[in-house]
Amino acid sequence: MTAAHDWGAAGFATRAIHAGQDPDPQTGAVIVPVYQTSTFHQSEVGAHAGWDYARSGNPTRDALETAIASLEGGRHGVAFASGLAACDAVLRTLRPGDHVVMANDVYGGTYRQFAQVHGPWGLAFDPVDLADLDVVRGAWREQTRLLWVETPTNPLLNVFDIAALAELAHERGARVVVDNTFATPALQQPLALGADVVVHSTTKYLGGHSDVVGGAIVADDDDLAGQVRFLQNAIGGVPGPWDVFLVLRGLKTLAVRMRAHCENARAVVAALQELPAVGEVVWPGLAGHPGHQIAARQMSDFGGMVSFRLADEEAAVRACARFRVFTLAESLGGVESLVEHPGRMTHQSVAGSPLQVPGDLVRLSVGIEDADDLVADLRQALG
Ligand SMILES: *Cc1c(COP(=O)(O)O)cnc(C)c1O
Repeated sequence: MTAAHDWGAAGFATRAIHAGQDPDPQTGAVIVPVYQTSTFHQSEVGAHAGWDYARSGNPTRDALETAIASLEGGRHGVAFASGLAACDAVLRTLRPGDHVVMANDVYGGTYRQFAQVHGPWGLAFDPVDLADLDVVRGAWREQTRLLWVETPTNPLLNVFDIAALAELAHERGARVVVDNTFATPALQQPLALGADVVVHSTTKYLGGHSDVVGGAIVADDDDLAGQVRFLQNAIGGVPGPWDVFLVLRGLKTLAVRMRAHCENARAVVAALQELPAVGEVVWPGLAGHPGHQIAARQMSDFGGMVSFRLADEEAAVRACARFRVFTLAESLGGVESLVEHPGRMTHQSVAGSPLQVPGDLVRLSVGIEDADDLVADLRQALG
């Protein structure tokens, strides 16, 4: 086997296409094959080419793990069957009695996992407003081991200062996790800002085509990554080879897709601001957004997620059904534009969450169709 090329010094778009994805040394295949096999031949007991059983490792999965780690600027990537399986693996590195300080508007499924899975198991947690560092300090306990950050958040697009939060947590001996699903490493690199762990739902922008569910973790620390790697195999929430192939394929265009998502979001925001029926428009790129300064500092652009408010809940629910180019559906981050009503859709399943999503809020995942078509659709649906 030829040694893998070191893509470490290459640019982001180059690494997205090549890191972990050298031509197959045996066949010359330019694209990493889907290794659809559960087990691997051993020439004698214990002697194999690096893989023995596909829960423990699979070459297609290895390629994805290498690529994602490279994009996040971390040494270790670990892939999971979903974003929530990735969250679970991080939380299982803690012990009953440990305490987590977390954002009070994390993704609803993440909150449900804290409240209904890890809480009963013995993990204590406090959801607080991470925008206020005094509040974060006030929530700190002797047992606090982890600070769980998500930025920008879903669906309110709050932005938190990763570097300041990392400093605060590290002074107190805790680790910092950032769910980087909304920004992606194309726009924001939490490890470089001081975070210890990055969590992804690869279902969203990294996969990018709404055709796969997956998750991943990236970390620099050998010990932490080793624990997560152990849990990946010991618990078994692993992605199959086709799923990792699809995410790997999506990653190749991440850089250009994110540019297009951000451009279209700019056009959509401008159009929304002109429509009389639309109240507040929420997007970190707007100067009036409370996290705009931080976003401008820690992100290279402001992302493709946009929320806005209508007159009331009834108006928001009715408007969602009128779109033709935007598809009414949950999820986000695909090439196609989606619209949803968070109060009754993505956030309904997490009643009891400290986050109150306003009923008049509509959320858009702005896709990469022609901006003119998106704007025309907004005008006909909301005009
Ligand atoms: C979707 C999502 C998750 C959960 O990921 P799944 O792949 O659906 O399990 C976690 N965090 C954020 C921010 C998400 O958008």
